[in-house]
Amino acid sequence: MTLSNRIQNVSASVTIAITSKAKQMQNDGIDVVSYGAGEPDFDTPQFIKDAAIEALQAGDTRYVPRQAMALKTAIAEKLGRENGIDLKPTDVLVTMGGKHALYAAFQAILNPGDKVLLPTPYWVSYPEQIALAGGVAVPLETSYETQFKITPEQIRQHPDAKVLVLNSPSNPSGQMYSPEELAALAEAVLETDMMVLSDEIYEKLIYGDNKFISFAALDPRLPERTVTFNGLSKTYAMTGWRLGWAAGPTEVIAAMGRLLSHETTNPVSFAQAGALAAYTHPDSDRVVENMRQDFEKRGIHMFERLNKLPGVKCYQPQGAFYCFADVSGNFGRTLGGVDVNGSLDFAKAALEAANVALVPGVAFGEDACVRLSFATSMEQIDKGIDRLAELLK
Ligand code: PMP
Ligand code: GLU
Repeated sequence: MTLSNRIQNVSASVTIAITSKAKQMQNDGIDVVSYGAGEPDFDTPQFIKDAAIEALQAGDTRYVPRQAMALKTAIAEKLGRENGIDLKPTDVLVTMGGKHALYAAFQAILNPGDKVLLPTPYWVSYPEQIALAGGVAVPLETSYETQFKITPEQIRQHPDAKVLVLNSPSNPSGQMYSPEELAALAEAVLETDMMVLSDEIYEKLIYGDNKFISFAALDPRLPERTVTFNGLSKTYAMTGWRLGWAAGPTEVIAAMGRLLSHETTNPVSFAQAGALAAYTHPDSDRVVENMRQDFEKRGIHMFERLNKLPGVKCYQPQGAFYCFADVSGNFGRTLGGVDVNGSLDFAKAALEAANVALVPGVAFGEDACVRLSFATSMEQIDKGIDRLAELLK
């Protein structure tokens, strides 16, 4: 049997693989501390569950769910109210997770050989999705020294690129661009014809004095060339529900919709009723803010403890729920019997010798670092860092 060339070049998602491995080890009775998944540890808020249960009981179990247009309308209203993006409900496409929306966008936009500017470190699924659409990812390199942020000059070096991917706050770096930095990137984009895919899935997880601004809202010329991505997984602790969306130029959203009409038809009917409650229920903002505050405390705690470990340095997270720690100070050492010369070795030593699951930075295009998700309890944060301290001492 021969598989397609297309699929032979795809590797499985490392974040998902590590999360599954940690869960399997826990099921086997091993006391693993998992910093793997970028997944809230909270349960979905009750009013969201209730709305889905109600829809299920009311017979919302069919194709083209009753709530589909109401949900698009609620998302379009949210974009207008909170993000300063003025779009019609029909310019919103609801998908089976933000991941699916991004996949559909690359399929809809890219021709073979089209260049996509991809700032490093990048979320694991972007390069694979770009390759699956025949595109060529052009990494825009950053490092700890540049705070993992690109400059407008890096965009200007590739005026022929078709697409720029932005993800602020960033998975995995936990960094975000200030409105001024983003405006400077927008200026460079506007000197070219490139489109921007702005992945804003961590919009509600912002810490300290940082301010979130949607890329499309920075200049009146941007909405016609920007697709905004978001989803319910992170904001509302709904990872398993698989609901996300894209919003942007009519032609692109319509093309993505045509693709999905053959792929999934529609996201799960009663899940959409839950999503509608998430965007419209009066308790929503308060519940989201409570989770955000918890994440912020945990992030600061993990960051402070990590920075005290030998050969480890990281920035205080500005958004999302990741500490992205440069551990290259430990390269050349033998840790728990593993010769550590890169992030994969480091992650292997952490898992095998300390029972701590974390994601090697090489999966994000940055081999000096490892990613630790702090979407877990304070106890787990302390327990895992204690173990890493013992491993590194
Ligand atoms: N973009 C980024 C940057 C992410 O971290 C995630 C999390 N998996 C997603 C998109 C997609 O999430 P989901 O498919 O659960 O909506
Ligand atoms: N986005 C999360 C992460 O990076 C969830 C897993 C995934 O979809 O990649 O860990």
